[in-house]
Amino acid sequence: MLNPKPEHSIIGKLDKIIKELGLLDKVKGKHVFIKIHLGQNIGFSNIHPFITGYIVRKIKEAGGKPFLVDIFEQIDKAVLRGYTQEVIGCPIYPVAGPKDTYYVEKKVYYKNLDVIQMGGFCKDADILVDLSHVKGHNMAGFGAAIKNLALGCYTQKTRFAVHRTTQYDKYWFPEKCRDPVKTALKLVEACPHRAIRYDKGRFRVIFERCNQCMRCKLVDDENCLLIQRKNFESFFEAMAITAKYVLDHYDEDSRFFINIALDITEYCDCWGFTTGNILPDLGVLGSTDILAIDKATLDLLKDKPLIKENVSRSLEINDNPKLHPFARVHGPWKDPYLQIWYGEKYGLGNPDYELVEVNPPGPWKSEKLPKPRFPESLQLY
Ligand code: SF4
Repeated sequence: MLNPKPEHSIIGKLDKIIKELGLLDKVKGKHVFIKIHLGQNIGFSNIHPFITGYIVRKIKEAGGKPFLVDIFEQIDKAVLRGYTQEVIGCPIYPVAGPKDTYYVEKKVYYKNLDVIQMGGFCKDADILVDLSHVKGHNMAGFGAAIKNLALGCYTQKTRFAVHRTTQYDKYWFPEKCRDPVKTALKLVEACPHRAIRYDKGRFRVIFERCNQCMRCKLVDDENCLLIQRKNFESFFEAMAITAKYVLDHYDEDSRFFINIALDITEYCDCWGFTTGNILPDLGVLGSTDILAIDKATLDLLKDKPLIKENVSRSLEINDNPKLHPFARVHGPWKDPYLQIWYGEKYGLGNPDYELVEVNPPGPWKSEKLPKPRFPESLQLY
């Protein structure tokens, strides 16, 4: 009979993964930028500080000089989640400094996104370690390696602008309505997810809340509102653009990606609270390619059972079996594979991968054993 061994545990496997990726061979004398998402408010499902501290310790033992980086809003209270220099073993910086003003710019001219501002700390290193918590996301379908860089390496101004790309393509056509105010109010009323707002003459769909149920269209007999893919997909394309700019600061052989697929909740850690897990834990994944790791993570989760009991009642579960579990919760046009699709379009990496399980515990040898003869259940209550 097999006894559980440390090397088969999460950290045992993580240890093997970071060695096999070649990370520790590269870091000697180098500054190592570790991008992480620290979470906020009363959330605690971000990456456990022990995991992060373990990686930091290994990098330091190998002669590297690591530092952690996240957006400035998440730094102050990170201590409440155990993220202190004493626990982690290295400094923790805001991406663009305490005033969010230390950044490098790039002109991209994508919809409303003219210029992007990447935090200066994201470039001040030789090696990139993109350490991501895998979870659902109400605009990107899911968040992992791509999203950790695409949003998490940027100033607040750029992050907000990335979200606003969803508003760029026109979707409200009051000129088609006999009575635009009446129609707008009717649409507000029809949306069970409170994704439609009408205030002081301004009509707005909050795409972050919209799960594309199309109930609004049932009452839109004049076709004044368009719920269309391109508003949703703008976010994915903008993410590919911003993630690419971060990657461009590092040589291909200096990029490392680690996805921690534990505590997979329905929302991003930036929501500031923790709900139940909506998918089973996968463990730890590692790669030197950002698309391979996120694609493999999605593929491994694709056929896992959605834990419906843990999905918040404010969300609506779509039972279409063709959808990825994240899209069953956030909507078909928030298909998380769109991150891979746009990632390929912008040359972020290669989504092809070979899955190698590290430290497999070995097969269960039940067929060689006599049939078990467990005692009856105690049935105490
Ligand atoms: S599609 Fe559904 S969720 Fe989206 S705005 Fe219309 S009613 Fe609301």
